[in-house]
Amino acid sequence: MSSPYDLIVLGAGPAGAAAAIKARSLGLSVAVIDEAPAAGGQVYRAPSPAPTATQPDADRAKGDALRAKLAASGAVLYANHRVWSLTPGFSVIAIGPDGPLTLEASNLIVAAGAIERHIPVTGWTLPGVIGLAGATILLKAHGVLPGRRVVVAGSGPLLLLAASKIVAAGGEVAAVVDAAPRASWLARAGAMLARPDLMAKGAGWLLALLKARVPIHSGAAIRTIHGTDGVEAVTIGPVDRDWRPVGGAERTVPADAVCLGFGLLPSTEVTRLLGAKHRYEPELGGWVPALDASLQTSVPGLFVAGDGAGVRGADAAPLSGELAALGVISRLGRGGDLAGEATKIENAWRRSSRFGAAMSALAMPPPGAAALIAPQATVCRCEGLTRATLDAAIAAGARTLADLKATTRCGMGPCGGRVCGEAAAMLIGAATGWDRETIGQPSARPPLRPVPLAAITGAFDYDELPIPAPAPL
Ligand SMILES: Cc1cc2nc3c(=O)[nH]c(=O)nc-3n(C[C@H](O)[C@H](O)[C@H](O)COP(=O)(O)OP(=O)(O)OC[C@H]3O[C@@H](n4cnc5c(N)ncnc54)[C@H](O)[C@@H]3O)c2cc1C
Repeated sequence: MSSPYDLIVLGAGPAGAAAAIKARSLGLSVAVIDEAPAAGGQVYRAPSPAPTATQPDADRAKGDALRAKLAASGAVLYANHRVWSLTPGFSVIAIGPDGPLTLEASNLIVAAGAIERHIPVTGWTLPGVIGLAGATILLKAHGVLPGRRVVVAGSGPLLLLAASKIVAAGGEVAAVVDAAPRASWLARAGAMLARPDLMAKGAGWLLALLKARVPIHSGAAIRTIHGTDGVEAVTIGPVDRDWRPVGGAERTVPADAVCLGFGLLPSTEVTRLLGAKHRYEPELGGWVPALDASLQTSVPGLFVAGDGAGVRGADAAPLSGELAALGVISRLGRGGDLAGEATKIENAWRRSSRFGAAMSALAMPPPGAAALIAPQATVCRCEGLTRATLDAAIAAGARTLADLKATTRCGMGPCGGRVCGEAAAMLIGAATGWDRETIGQPSARPPLRPVPLAAITGAFDYDELPIPAPAPL
């Protein structure tokens, strides 16, 4: 066990790194822990040391600057450490290259980012189908194309980012398939204009695709991904404003890979495990922890920053990190009067959030999107459960994610519901018309991430295990 710090920051992405740097600048002892080999998070992920060439870009430069600043701050970075459990107060329990590690602090900033939202269309379990956000990591950190001829499908701005990166890296994009109609993008033009620089970045991605003559289908979705041992072709068809498949021209395009994703949802397993209150905010990607003005949860000393507090994007993330750090400092009664600085940061955060939240809302599937999931499609990959199986359990009375888990094991595998939970909740909503607050969240239990059993049990000898005496009959 490592000696107590004033603050532990879980996650060294833009939010966590900014929180640690700010807290160090005001004299706190800070540990930062992340499962990645280097700081940077998803957007500023450090390139892999493998010899594959990756293309340097603006994000790489920003990531390098952030890593240098964090290293100079004096915060202790535990990279390559996967946090799999936490206890109140707080103990952060992780597994790293040298074995188990437990860190202790009375203040914890969770900056664990976001996870991808999946809608399980038919064929999504075939080799060659990867997450849309995951594809950006393949391209940015490893310089690897997802395939030679790729369909990029789903919703939100990551579609344009991933497709333009594939084209820039020499791959072919067979089609971009965006479930949101063009009108949905136009409806968010006001919020986008709040950040002309980011809007110009998106326009640059679009122009690159138009120049490469990539077909862009708006108001359309994948009906089926075909193939036997891998992706061979993709059938695309139109959807209505609620993303329900409608009649009209279907087309089948040959492809060897599909990047598929429907936006991001805040990663809330840590705050759920620690018993914080949450609320459902579709504009911010779904379930978010309920926070006060200093970004503190309902659990004293537990703060949240970045996309884990609501998906607002990479520009807003560091501002919320700084705000949470100021919250910790004022909780500790250190640093003097920081109210003026907090207000300034909060105002900038709100401005940046407007753009990010508009993009997040654009990617958010409306309730009709449940119709994209065919009865034979596998929804829970860990347990091999199809929509038909889950629908049968719902028809028999399962009304919450906990009910579905108890009756079918949906969400009980290694993903802990992170991959299937959203789709399962959509199916309950489609059958009952209930809102997400009523349907509930997946429960969070350790291990939060898959870890070797020895990390949990420690070394033991079966013969030395104490065996309790049999209970009297
Ligand atoms: C896969 C993926 C790819 C993305 N790519 C882009 C992109 O290319 N461009 C873009 O603008 N936005 C991208 N985004 C969105 C982007 O992540 C955010 O807007 C921004 O990075 C949020 O910053 P953050 O600090 O809140 O979280 P993140 O940058 O996600 O950082 C969170 C950090 O927490 C760590 N972490 C989480 N859980 C644990 C745990 N249990 N144990 C140890 N460490 C943990 C992660 O390793 C990560 O480094 C992507 C999101 C995802 C999920």
